[in-house]
Amino acid sequence: MTPSVDYHMHTPLCGHAQGEPREYVEHALKIGLKEIGFSDHAPLVSHRDPTITMDFDELPKYYAMIEEVQKKYPQFTIKMGIEADFIPGYEQKTKEILADYPYDYVIGSIHFIGKWGFDDPAQREGWQAHDINEVYRDYYELLCQSAQSQLFDIMAHVDLVKKFGHRPTEDMTPEIKKTAKVFKECGVAVEINSSGLRKPVAEMYPAKSALQIYCDAGVPLTFGSDSHLPTDVGRDFDKALAMARAVGYKEHLVFKRRKVERKVKF
Ligand code: ZN
Ligand code: FE
Ligand code: FE
Ligand code: ZN
Repeated sequence: MTPSVDYHMHTPLCGHAQGEPREYVEHALKIGLKEIGFSDHAPLVSHRDPTITMDFDELPKYYAMIEEVQKKYPQFTIKMGIEADFIPGYEQKTKEILADYPYDYVIGSIHFIGKWGFDDPAQREGWQAHDINEVYRDYYELLCQSAQSQLFDIMAHVDLVKKFGHRPTEDMTPEIKKTAKVFKECGVAVEINSSGLRKPVAEMYPAKSALQIYCDAGVPLTFGSDSHLPTDVGRDFDKALAMARAVGYKEHLVFKRRKVERKVKF
């Protein structure tokens, strides 16, 4: 058995994903998922980069693309989500973008520390100029701030800083515990994001030890493959479910119009 809902997948509008939404849906049906949600990269509020996110004027096209597959597959539940970057100082602008459409859920992400896109392969050399422990501490601080911003329902890939395999020499457990506490207080969910297995680090986001901390803190859960390719939909969800169960999770959330629609036991 695998989780039946995948809430994290992209479209070609972000400039680095392939395949039409229809192909993502077809793959989901083929592997027996019960529900999916698209969550393409929302326009960046701080600068423009067509290789990372869609542009402001592409948002209507995004809604139209997803509405089209919703109509094409009326028997299958397809949610309209979005993945938005948290960039301190741009909360109001982010809020305005997210108010543009009645999304089913909004996934919050940290891909930038200051102006540095730490997970962008094109900016990988930036790691040389940074202290790894400091990057991790800054990252967890930004995660806390994004939950506190109340802009998001789910936080994405909550240890993305490990993507290229950079490991802190200091124990980050206190930072993770603080982050989990803030998530719980602010009412945001955490996702198990299986895309980490396909990255240099070759590990789930978050690591099992971190997921244990989120579970112990009472933070609710969603599953996401972070597919940028149709065939990655639902990928490694058997491993994701095993990890969720191993740390004590018993259910995941289903969202509708930015509210918890129901909880699915597993
Ligand atoms: Zn992406
Ligand atoms: Fe992301
Ligand atoms: Fe994503
Ligand atoms: Zn992502």
